[in-house]
Amino acid sequence: MDPAQAQRTARDPDGVDEWQRLVAADARGDDKVVEAALRPRRLDELIGQERVREQLGLVLQAALRRGHPPDHILLSGPPGLGKTTIALIVAHELGTPIRVTSGPAIQHAGDLAAILSSLAEGEVLFLDEIHRMARPAEEMLYMAMEDFRVDVVVGKGPGAMAIPLDIPHFTLVGATTRAGLLPGPLRDRFGFTAHLDFYEPAEIELILRRSARLLDVHLTADGGVEIAGRSRGTPRIANRLLRRVRDFAQVRADGVVTAEAAQAALALYEVDQRGLDRLDRAVLGALLDRFGGGPVGLSTLAVAVGEEAETVEEVAEPFLVRAGLLARTPRGRVATAAAWEHLGRTPPADGAGWAALVAAQRAVPPRGQPGWPAQDQLFGPEA
Ligand code: ADP
Repeated sequence: MDPAQAQRTARDPDGVDEWQRLVAADARGDDKVVEAALRPRRLDELIGQERVREQLGLVLQAALRRGHPPDHILLSGPPGLGKTTIALIVAHELGTPIRVTSGPAIQHAGDLAAILSSLAEGEVLFLDEIHRMARPAEEMLYMAMEDFRVDVVVGKGPGAMAIPLDIPHFTLVGATTRAGLLPGPLRDRFGFTAHLDFYEPAEIELILRRSARLLDVHLTADGGVEIAGRSRGTPRIANRLLRRVRDFAQVRADGVVTAEAAQAALALYEVDQRGLDRLDRAVLGALLDRFGGGPVGLSTLAVAVGEEAETVEEVAEPFLVRAGLLARTPRGRVATAAAWEHLGRTPPADGAGWAALVAAQRAVPPRGQPGWPAQDQLFGPEA
């Protein structure tokens, strides 16, 4: 391992901060503080996610009419799309308090018992990253969700005793980026499940306009279009890019966020027109320049970029795959025609990568035929 890489690995196991990712979808730095001010508070303030908004509206209205807490709600989808926002909206619409915790914070069943037994009647419990909760706590949660009861174990060994404890009727709002990792029995206990999708550029523009108003930033229409195009369909990234462009416009221009200001600021931060940053372009560039567009194995590609294989796979690839720039084939990673075009390179006429991509596509049985969701193996599940 070269010294730079060793240092990076010691300081930051993901190697991600090294790239200072402005396009990271998870909250970092000052995000948490600013986001609190930008969150929509009511369902009708939420932009996009029409289907979820309508379905959730019905669930909440019906509960209010019945005067009884609604079913438990599961929100799944990639980071930065509004899961926390929606959990807070649920409590706000119901007029109840909300308790916020997360899977990694619950390491023992006792941690969960303490939270559950201190809830108020009707309170919303928001459990972020619910797939990362400890197993024994998970089992306690099943019973709490269904029977509003927990068994608190007192003592150890043969003398241990389970004391049943009634808990208030609460509504659990669980959030996960990895719905597939949730055990079936837990998933089944949610009465309403919503999957959040990436936003269309026009929706991101509306979100940017709203954020600009709240932050007192003058954003022009073309400035909004420019930032939206680079935001990867993710409101959190859009809001972060807006703040960086605002800083740039205030220092280097007249404070107005125009398309020119956005282009200049984001060129400085190395976020390109499609929202690719330095890491994304390094991966794609290595794939094209060093391996003729592939196919190349993940670990070889990672070494070429000087990164850990996990960083390439989990941090860069999901977006590159989603953007249609890279495909995961059984023979390795392959660049698509769009990748060559995006990086302004000419693809080799008879690239082996094409052959692999075509062969991989042929290997996919038609929709509905046995083995059809082999798609997942080809293009990989999204993070
Ligand atoms: P998650 O919990 O899925 O990671 P958050 O709910 O924390 O995402 O959202 C991140 C940021 O994006 C918040 O500051 C919020 O203001 C903004 N945001 C998310 N969804 C929307 C939306 N539909 N409309 C407006 N802003 C949104």
